[in-house]
Amino acid sequence: MIKSRAGSVVFQGIKKQFGAFTAIHDLSLTIEPGTLVTLLGPSGCGKTTTLRMLAGLEHPTSGKILIGGADVTMLPANERDVSMVFQSYALFPHMSSLDNVAYGLESSGMKHKEARERAQEGLKLVGLAGMGDRLPAELSGGQQQRVAVARALILEPQVLLLDEPLSNLDARLRRRVRTEIRELQQRLGFTAVYVTHDQDEALAVSDRIIIMKDGGIAQEGSPRDLYEAPASAFIADFMGEANVVPCDVVRVEGADATIRIGLLEHRVPSRNARLGPANLAVRPNSITLEPASGAAFPGQITHSAYLGDHVEYEVETSTGTLFVVDPAVERAMAPKTEVSVGFKGRGIAIING
Ligand code: ATP
Repeated sequence: MIKSRAGSVVFQGIKKQFGAFTAIHDLSLTIEPGTLVTLLGPSGCGKTTTLRMLAGLEHPTSGKILIGGADVTMLPANERDVSMVFQSYALFPHMSSLDNVAYGLESSGMKHKEARERAQEGLKLVGLAGMGDRLPAELSGGQQQRVAVARALILEPQVLLLDEPLSNLDARLRRRVRTEIRELQQRLGFTAVYVTHDQDEALAVSDRIIIMKDGGIAQEGSPRDLYEAPASAFIADFMGEANVVPCDVVRVEGADATIRIGLLEHRVPSRNARLGPANLAVRPNSITLEPASGAAFPGQITHSAYLGDHVEYEVETSTGTLFVVDPAVERAMAPKTEVSVGFKGRGIAIING
């Protein structure tokens, strides 16, 4: 039986330089055992470098890395209790899928017969029980990726590392395989660190998301925290589209704050809001438009596009152009329509900048 040995991961004050270039600045984070944590961020922000330091493929310039409480900072990759699944799968093309899965066990000294028995178990775990004889070329991309996951899992690592594991799959398969990876992680309860630059993928699979920017952590939280309470315009825009709207915070009462834009007042969660000028991050589907003139927060439609199940609008206002998604297709409004702008739902947050 393949066991899961969920270990914790701690980064303490990690810095990584390549020559004069600092790729990671003072990164500290803790990953709880049995959770799936995603490193998400734009290209070049340091996700892969962070993962490679955890794997032992790079060593930090300073700081400490602990896996399952043990300091592994300077241990080589093969002495760490982690396995990595690469975006390229890295399967041996001339070996059957069973031999590919058994390879890691055999090279760590397990007898051929026992390694193959365990490899069978690994293939069964990922739903490929009957496919042990096939070469990688005889499997679909999704099946090859599952072989790579099985190969990593049967080593029973404390932490499974996944580096953009879906990037070679087409869009539909990507959705299915990400569900399978998440389901397997929850069923077996292992700790996983997952790198992606795709926010949908991160929202779908993660217990927690760490958004990285310029070699540091921009914000960390549950998928819901990051989506509904982004701390900055960067996060709001990175986690799906958002309008950034200047406003004034005119009242803060416990968990609620009242913001004002023009003559419009609206209550939003206060978080750490202070009285005075601020910015709002507003999702396109949290803006309401009603045909009206002389509104508290007036706008004029400058562009509208019918997209089947919703209408997209661009609306010119005194605080700039708003992008709006409106499900009310039956009353699509034409450019030049004067509208009253309002807010609804949970997609509105006060941000700092
Ligand atoms: P992507 O999504 O494009 O893979 P990433 O977030 O994974 O990006 P990293 O690969 O971690 O980013 O790179 C972080 C920064 O460090 C980049 O500016 C990159 O150019 C630089 N870098 C990474 N590896 C090296 C290296 N071996 N030598 C010099 N610079 C490097």
